[in-house]
This record gives sequence, C-alpha cells and structure tokens, in this order.
Amino acid sequence: MSNRMLGILVSVLLSLTAYAVNATEPGGLVIVGARVIDGSGGPSRDVNVRIVGGRIATVGNFEVTANDTVIDAGNRVLAPGFIDSHSHHDGGLLESPDALAAVSQGITTIVAGQDGGQPYPLQQFFADLVKSPAAINVASFAGHGTLRARVMGEDYQRQAMSDEVAAMASLLVAEMEAGALGLSSGLEYDPGSFSSTGELVELARVVATHGGRYISHIRSEDQYFWEAIDELIETGRETGVPVQVSHIKLAMARWWGQADRLIAKLDEARASGVQISADIYPYRAWNTDFTWLVTLFPNRDLNRRDGAEYILGEMLSPEGILLPNYLPEPAYDGMTIAEIAARRETDPETTLMDLLKADLAMGGRSQMLGLAMDERDIEALMAWPHMVIGSDGELAGPHPRGYGSYARYLGHYIRDRKVLTLEEGVQRITSQTALQLGIDERGLIQEGKYADLVLFDSETVADRATAQDPHLASVGIDKVWVNGQLVFDDGKVTGSRPGRVVRRPATQTVN
Ligand SMILES: [Zn+2]
Repeated sequence: MSNRMLGILVSVLLSLTAYAVNATEPGGLVIVGARVIDGSGGPSRDVNVRIVGGRIATVGNFEVTANDTVIDAGNRVLAPGFIDSHSHHDGGLLESPDALAAVSQGITTIVAGQDGGQPYPLQQFFADLVKSPAAINVASFAGHGTLRARVMGEDYQRQAMSDEVAAMASLLVAEMEAGALGLSSGLEYDPGSFSSTGELVELARVVATHGGRYISHIRSEDQYFWEAIDELIETGRETGVPVQVSHIKLAMARWWGQADRLIAKLDEARASGVQISADIYPYRAWNTDFTWLVTLFPNRDLNRRDGAEYILGEMLSPEGILLPNYLPEPAYDGMTIAEIAARRETDPETTLMDLLKADLAMGGRSQMLGLAMDERDIEALMAWPHMVIGSDGELAGPHPRGYGSYARYLGHYIRDRKVLTLEEGVQRITSQTALQLGIDERGLIQEGKYADLVLFDSETVADRATAQDPHLASVGIDKVWVNGQLVFDDGKVTGSRPGRVVRRPATQTVN
C-alpha cells in the first residue's frame, strides 16, 4: 500500500470514528443543582458537572442530553473528595474494603504508611489492592521504622552503622520505585527513636532524588517539642526535600497558648527556603498505646515515681488520661486515671504505675486517650496557610477521629467556629493536601481530573463519634463518588469498590 493510500484509509477511518462518537454520544452522570466548590479556593459556582469513564468530563452550564443520567443535588455543596493526609484506615482495609469509617466522612483517598510504619513491601500491598480494590483510593509513604527494623532486627536500640543506613537506603529506593510518596518517620516510637538525625538526613536525600517528600511524627511532642521541630527543619534544609510535621500539636500544658511562637518558627523556616508544612487532626485528644507512657519514665523504670509525677503533673493530668479499653480490668473501660484512683482508693501516681505494669504483663495492648491540647491553639494552627487536615484515624480504632474528623472539621471548625471560609476549608482538604503530599490528578473539580466527589450539606454536616462511642457515623455527607462510582449514598455504603492505587506521579502507572 502506498503512503498516499494509507493516508486516505486512515482519514476515512478517523472520520468514521468521529461519526460513531457523535451518533451515539456516550451518556455521562450529570450532577445538576449543586453549589460547586471546586477545591481551588475560589468562590462556589452554580454549575453542572458531567462524569464520564471515571473522570470529570465537563464543568459548566451545559445542556443535559438524553443519554445522561441526571442527579439533582438539591442545592447542596459538591466538592472534590477529601484526601486524608495522615491515615491509618489502611489497617484491615483488605478485609473491610467498604471503608465505612472513611467514606461516611467524605474521604475518597487515604495516605497510609504513617509514623514510620508501612505495609511492606508496597509493591505487594499495591498489587493486593489492584486485585481486590477497596472503595477508596490508597497512597502510601515508605516507613522509616519498618525499613530500620528490617535492617537491624532486634538489635535496634542504638545508632545505625553506615552500612546499615546504606541498606535502609536501598530498601527505600525499592519502595520509592513502587510508588511511595516519600518517607515517613515515627521518632517517638521504637525503633525510630534510636535513630540519629544523620541517618534521617541520609534517607531524606534518597527521597529527594526521587522527587518525594519527608513527613515526620517528630521526636518529641511534649518536653523536647521545639528541638524536635528544629530537627525536622534541619533535615529539610540539608536535603532540600519538602517536609511536613505530622499531627502537629502543642500537647503539653507548659506550651499551651504558644501557637504564635510555633507559627513564627515555621514561617521563618519557610522564608529561609525550607518547604515545611504540617497536618493536624481536629480534636483535643490524642491516642496511642497506653504503654507508650513507659518511655517517659527515667530508664523506662515503672518504679520511678518521678516518672508518674511528670506525666500526671506536667504533661497531662489524672483527668486527662482516659482508658477506652483497659484489657487487664474491663471494669475501668471509659474511665480516667483520676476516676480509677478514686475507685482504688489510692493516689493517681500509684494507680498509673500499677495499671501500666499490669498492662505490660498482658502484652501492652490497651489504648489511651490523652486530653492534651488547647482549642485556641488548634484553631490558630488550622488557620496557618500551610496546614492541612489528617484524621490519624482507623477503620475500627478507639479514637472518634476514625469516623468523625472531616465532618467535625467542616461542621465545628469551618461552619461554627469560622476558622476559615468554606471555600478555603475545602481547598485545604482537597487540592492543597494533594499539593503538599505530591498527589496528581485529584483534589479539584476540573475537566480531566478523576471524579472523586462529595455531596454534603454545609448547614448540617457534623461528627457524632465520641470517646465513648467512637464508631458513630457522621451526618450531612449525602453522596460520595470515587473514580466516578457512587460508594456512599444516604448513610450506607453501596458495595462499589472503585478505589485505585495512587502512586507518586513520576512513577504513576495505570492499574
Ligand atoms: Zn503519629
């Protein structure tokens, strides 16, 4: 066939194809009657949104065609699906793929691999998710603690040798190539707590060469908080890698009211060229393993009464430690140390030491909530322009944030407390989160983006989960779409599981 004949054939085929498309214009899903807040921070618009093939095809005042399926939004807000910057909802996700805790609060993408721990190896985790998808999209960081444990095993209570750091770096390269967004660390936890700053700088350099980010549960959230922030800033400065403080908090009574000092420090770092940002969860209380408190005793010695005095006197209070599920004595479930001490007719310090010893003897599996933040600090930090939200939540965890974070953010902090405008608030939890974590093609209602969408009632959206009843679903979130498919509708999961693996854009591949 001559080139000329080939050219004619190709143009005939192309025109036939074009004709075919026009004749049977594929219908889309069109959402009409919504107040569209597109995630850019710009004002809401009364426009239609058409979804075709899992992506947003058209945004504007177009005519609906006969082939379209139309949904009337009833003047509620249509926003991009929320991206949870710090999530532990990946735990048990393969077994509970509907992810009710996440979708019922409008989350469409979770970022896993937090606090230095990751599903390892990511290539396997991602392959499992491709094979049996969840309702939500999943991105992940590589976890410093996971890599450190693989290299050092049980012998981790020391600084790593240079060959060990090199071995961690080569594991990290594999995770970055699998699509990790970057590296996370959990420097208040074992084994990360034994690492030197130099070790983290070496690994952050690896992340930098792959265009990733470094996020950190910093080395101290209480006594040595300011030094811990400095360590993260220095890691960012040394390596040029964008860094993010995970679940930032002024968690010690001594630091309450110092949000301005913290913001000034972060702004100063940014002005000097360090790309530092942060995420925060919308609650006063934190949650971790009860026996984590052991690390605050001198030499981890539970007979050191001064350790208990420090925890109950300077860091928290007897009323500020609540045990939602104390395994050695279920009668204490839901009680504070103050209440338990009264029942035992002893002082709070003795009670704390005794309860920790009993829990350790049973494997240390109880949880605690620590009431440790000041509302004014939370609101001031939320308003900082480089702050995004992270739930730090789980599918079935003891903290209400697993179910309530985003509804609480939109209802309590944005609508009632007016920390930001609704448009700004939506921007933080969509496009800005995507930007700060390096996620592509999501977080905006814009032609060509993936159709992750949330329809909600900005007047009524509210969390219901509490410390006593942490698995109560939020209200006001009406419909949630992930990649164009409805996953949550009128209070129930639909059973659709269109979630995709979200890889760092440089290595993003179709799955
Ligand atoms: Zn953490």
